[in-house]
Amino acid sequence: MIQKIKHLIGLDIKEEEYAYGNDPEHGYVSAQKIPDRWVKSTCGYCSVGCGMLLGVKGDRIVAVRGDEDHPVNEGDLCPKGLSEHHPLTSPDRAVSPLMKQPDGSFKAVDWDTAYGHMVDTIQSVQAKHGPQSFGVLSTGQLLTEEFYALGKLVQLGFGTTNYDGNTTLCMSSAVVGYKQSFGSDGPPGSYKGLATADVIFLIGANIADNHPILWHHIRKNPEYKLIVCDPRKTKTAMLADLFLPLKPRRDIDLLNGLIHLIIKNRKVDQNYIDNHTTGYEELCQHAAPFGLEVTALRTGLPEEKILETYEAIANGKKVFFGWTMGINHSTQGSDTVSLINTLALITGNIGRTGAAPMSITGQCNAMGSREFSFSSSPPGYRKFENETDRKELAELWNIDEGLMPTARGANYPEIIDGVLEGKIKALWVVATNPLVSFPDQARLKKALAKLEILIVQDGFHPTPTTQLADLVLPAAIWGEKDGCYTNSERRVSRANAAVPPPGLARSDFQICMDLAERLGKREWLFPGWTCSEDAFEEIRQVSKGRLCDYSGITIEKMGQGGIQWPCNAANPEGADSLYTDGVFKTDDGKARLLFTVSEELPEDVDNSYRLILNTGRTVEHWHTGTKTRNVALLNKLAPEAWVEVNPATATYFGITPHDRVSLVSRRGRVDDLLVRIAETIHPDHVFMPFHFAEKCINELTVAAFDPKSGEPNYKQCAVRLERFDR
Ligand code: SF4
Repeated sequence: MIQKIKHLIGLDIKEEEYAYGNDPEHGYVSAQKIPDRWVKSTCGYCSVGCGMLLGVKGDRIVAVRGDEDHPVNEGDLCPKGLSEHHPLTSPDRAVSPLMKQPDGSFKAVDWDTAYGHMVDTIQSVQAKHGPQSFGVLSTGQLLTEEFYALGKLVQLGFGTTNYDGNTTLCMSSAVVGYKQSFGSDGPPGSYKGLATADVIFLIGANIADNHPILWHHIRKNPEYKLIVCDPRKTKTAMLADLFLPLKPRRDIDLLNGLIHLIIKNRKVDQNYIDNHTTGYEELCQHAAPFGLEVTALRTGLPEEKILETYEAIANGKKVFFGWTMGINHSTQGSDTVSLINTLALITGNIGRTGAAPMSITGQCNAMGSREFSFSSSPPGYRKFENETDRKELAELWNIDEGLMPTARGANYPEIIDGVLEGKIKALWVVATNPLVSFPDQARLKKALAKLEILIVQDGFHPTPTTQLADLVLPAAIWGEKDGCYTNSERRVSRANAAVPPPGLARSDFQICMDLAERLGKREWLFPGWTCSEDAFEEIRQVSKGRLCDYSGITIEKMGQGGIQWPCNAANPEGADSLYTDGVFKTDDGKARLLFTVSEELPEDVDNSYRLILNTGRTVEHWHTGTKTRNVALLNKLAPEAWVEVNPATATYFGITPHDRVSLVSRRGRVDDLLVRIAETIHPDHVFMPFHFAEKCINELTVAAFDPKSGEPNYKQCAVRLERFDR
């Protein structure tokens, strides 16, 4: 077995390092690394939310294995999950608060000094320029209890609404799309749908790379048709029964064409439309011009493939509509999400297991952030502008209602704009790395240079962002702290601390408590709280009666494979589908049949920049690589960034296999890139993954955002290819 693995992944594994561990049923365990105990937890990378067991020896996690009892993965894990313990002992862990010195070096300081400097500077900036001159950028990686504490601290403790998460860079269009269609955020479906739908329609979703364990559920489906719609022939597309290689941003045209055919051929679920939706007449008028010929022309797809897709959806008894960043990463992401919802609604594919529109989230706890972070909305899917919601929260929190914010503050790109314009003078970045992940890096760097103070709280240092910081706060990461994550299917699972954090690092929860103490507001914000369980108890109360109802969730239930909200007296074991009664969270209880038309891409190609750059991920790495680039196994599997180029394009630019190339856009260039010549990419496009800080794709991307959600248009910008001679 070991030889086979070595052969497959080309690793230099010393045979004598391996032996059967104390648990031969689960395979090989290094003889020197046999755990003393196993701790149940949940993966802290992606939103699939796999259950796992952490093997602990002394104060180190020495092994990870899949939890056979967890319904999400039943023992399976992807390469990132299997090696998740390695980053904990990386030499790049942040282990002490650090203050930038006048000569640019960092000096280790104690927590008291760090908190004092942070709070004094923020308060002095706010006294001079107003409370909104302080901004906060958070993440989708914290535990829900940490999001909840951070939200209260920022909105009420520091009194600024200029607060958002990096979830805006991946999921905010899904949130807005759901709110527009259903009156609330909340993915209606679940993974059971993948195992039971007769048609699985994946649009802009490369789950084989980005959510690999979802195949675990598709694999269980006895009979299904998988349709994959993507401009690139991804690994997921290669597994499809029908692949639709459409033009970039023409997903809207395809959806309009499918809606047209369904209406024209009377394949709609008229009963569902009449009883549970509004806007059907307007939708019919809108869809009228999108006949088969028009759709084929606009999408670049053959008519037979469009018809085959239409027939599958029209005749499917249970259709699962799944999407990820291919839809969200667009200036029209929010409206595209609503259009997918419309297609699901008119065919009656909602409210039943297997029949649902469902966003597949990116980060492990982007959902927890959406539910309780108090950034884009107040906790429990409430609305800032709703007086009843504000009153309810103020009462629950025992605070003056007048202190509740009445509108959302700046979103992520607006915060960067605010910094660039000099309106935001102090910025606190928590567990995210914009110096790799934010589009148009030149513009971002120009903005950050204007700050009076940049505070970066992270588990790792140095990162490109901590290096720019005036103050670095060292944070505990997955495996070192307790709380819960919500996955893409609304399943709330327990993540447990198995080992202590290194050096002086503290959990984000503890840092929030300490800062509240420093502000003199700890008891007011967090009455009687001593640990994250106290925050969870408050979350249960605050969510009671809301769509994301946690009131019936207990720590015991979470620890037994998680539980899907809403979980309450009516649903003590949680719920697999939302909107089973056809009643939505709009004023009249009906879903909105919304539609849109495709617009031009935010940036044109021309003779100088003739290719469209598509961006995405690879299974071996995670986001900006602060965790996975330190894992030898993952780095050996995917050691550097590459550009995927069609053979015809390579010939045109005089590129041959093993050449190095540069990609150049109107904003910047990335040199010395490995080229992969492959038929999987269209001749007019190139593809590059975004995990590699030293080959940062966001030097090239365009600062164009969905005006409704603030989500960046990462997927298309104009570039040219040049040979790079070392
Ligand atoms: Fe973790 Fe996602 Fe891999 Fe599961 S699929 S092990 S949640 S990274």
